[in-house]
Amino acid sequence: VLSVKNLQKSFDNLRVLKDISLSVTSGEIVSIIGSSGSGKSTLLRCLNRLELIDSGEITVDGDTMVSTENDKVKYAESPVLKQIRMKTGLVFQNFNLFPHYNVLRNITEAPIHVAGISRTEAEAKAYELLDKLGLTDKAESFPYQLSGGQSQRVSIARALALNPKILFFDEPTSALDPELTGEVLKVIRSLKSLNMTMVIVTHEMSFAREISNRMIFMDEGVIVEDTTPEELFNSANERTKAFLGKFH
Ligand code: ATP
Ligand code: MG
Repeated sequence: VLSVKNLQKSFDNLRVLKDISLSVTSGEIVSIIGSSGSGKSTLLRCLNRLELIDSGEITVDGDTMVSTENDKVKYAESPVLKQIRMKTGLVFQNFNLFPHYNVLRNITEAPIHVAGISRTEAEAKAYELLDKLGLTDKAESFPYQLSGGQSQRVSIARALALNPKILFFDEPTSALDPELTGEVLKVIRSLKSLNMTMVIVTHEMSFAREISNRMIFMDEGVIVEDTTPEELFNSANERTKAFLGKFH
């Protein structure tokens, strides 16, 4: 479903992603862990094309994006970009809901205005998702009226509204109190049982270990290890051991 080859990304003189390659197959759950500043969020933003890439290649479900000289010019109207946007969903740490739209409109905005689906159809799908996520009574609420856990579930519903091939999560629970973390992790577990392909950046080590088929440890813009949870937690690599040691 996802393949990344030799991805590089710098901000001015700071090399944030140094030759990242990885792939994710259908139904797979891959967690990405690593210290603050190691480039995890930047990687997800590049995969969802919220950031331009300097070089390398990203393929999502058969659509490939490369970096070209005039990428910036083409950025806004690129049909491939639109395809990739529609095939990927991103759930942010701080929810990023549209504050001036109610829950229903937050979910239907992209289906209507990006995918060109009719309002009736988009709203029917939104109510179905709200029902699945236990939020039916919040359809008319505005983001400021929701708890953190509810906000995050709405942003998961919003990401699912376009039927993405792959969902990216960037520390989906790190802004939440422990009791609200549980409800979001429960939703992610239920998506796993529906065979959703997911890439999850997280500091929840035991959750990552439980849910992931593979775990990637990033450090200073490189992938240090990409392996099974079992092997990662028993790694002999010094950098991996030093990082995991912080969580005991
Ligand atoms: P955390 O665990 O704290 O979320 P991270 O692994 O997600 O960290 P990134 O947010 O990807 O790290 O940041 C990687 C590096 O890139 C950091 O040094 C950060 O300061 C820098 N960076 C990120 N976005 C930008 C930007 N838009 N402009 C300049 N530098 C940036
Ligand atoms: Mg981050």
